[in-house]
Amino acid sequence: MKITRIETIPVRVPLKAEFAIRAGRGGSHIVSPFLLVKVHTDEGIVGIGEASCTPRWSGEDQVTGAHLIHTYLEPLLVGEDPTMVEELTKKFRLAFAENYFTKAAVEMALWDIAGKAAGKPVYELFGGKVREFVPTKWSVSGLEPEKAAGIAKWAVAQGFKAMKVKVGIEPDGDVERVQAVRQAVGAGIKLGVDANGGWTPEAAVNTIERLCAFGICFAEQPVPPEDIALMAGVRKKSRVPLIADESIYTLQDAKTLAVLGAADVISIYVGKAGGLGPARKIAGFAESVGLKCTLGSNLELGVGSAAMVHLALASRGITAEEFPCDIIGPLFYEDDIVREPLPIKPGEARANDKPGLGVELDEEKVERYRVK
Ligand SMILES: [Mg+2]
Repeated sequence: MKITRIETIPVRVPLKAEFAIRAGRGGSHIVSPFLLVKVHTDEGIVGIGEASCTPRWSGEDQVTGAHLIHTYLEPLLVGEDPTMVEELTKKFRLAFAENYFTKAAVEMALWDIAGKAAGKPVYELFGGKVREFVPTKWSVSGLEPEKAAGIAKWAVAQGFKAMKVKVGIEPDGDVERVQAVRQAVGAGIKLGVDANGGWTPEAAVNTIERLCAFGICFAEQPVPPEDIALMAGVRKKSRVPLIADESIYTLQDAKTLAVLGAADVISIYVGKAGGLGPARKIAGFAESVGLKCTLGSNLELGVGSAAMVHLALASRGITAEEFPCDIIGPLFYEDDIVREPLPIKPGEARANDKPGLGVELDEEKVERYRVK
């Protein structure tokens, strides 16, 4: 089997208005301008991928993604056997620097082809399931306390037993929001916070300490990602585990975090890592040095979410029972671009046990949301 061409499709899919995300440094998320990818082969098998690119995160958008794919990756991949995923990933890792979400979209499409060709779901290619479903948590936007509490109550009613609250906006307001959420959901719900790098080191230490009164069980990316030493300093004074998110994209970043003792948990994304293969290597590394892992989210659509489920189902290093994953993207949208929705329900994410990623694009919806 040979790759014949790569197709890229820019889409804009709106979030449900009530779930639009307001967060610290990461800004707001109201619509998802993502890039879909189709890798075509001479045997008629088409692999699909999704770049959940957000420029404020990684500097990529749907225009840069399409440009890099068609200019650099397509010439490298056409004529190659798509099932040689590890070899092809190595090739295109070197084609241009960074732009991991773009690379991940093509890489997940290769796994989709490999699975379809073998007649097996991707998690089987990864060695099989280590869990029947992936425990997930909800994410409460950084809104006024009453509104945040309302959303948290809704999430519990849906079935979520864990959630994180966006903080890092302003310490007093952050504390009021978490307090309101805790009062609304009661003591039985696992509650963490995600500052998206919005606190100074001092504010982080003080605010995390204040938030311990409301039983938080982790603090995610308390300080800006650029200086890992800052986070190591905060961790020394934190009574709860710190999750690194914006601080870690690659295996090398994971090593730096481990060496500096800057985090207890790594938030892996298929996109940040540059694909499922690199993401699995990070999870394996974390397992080997005693770090925990969860999966974070850019509110992936059905294709990107499917990739996350396969990764978490087959990776022991992703300690989802202790730190539930953010495989919740599809719940944020009125509509998705896949034909059969993923079996993702509040608190539990499962895969479609079909070959490849187990999802197919709904071409009518792809056309509806295509950027013309
Ligand atoms: Mg985060």
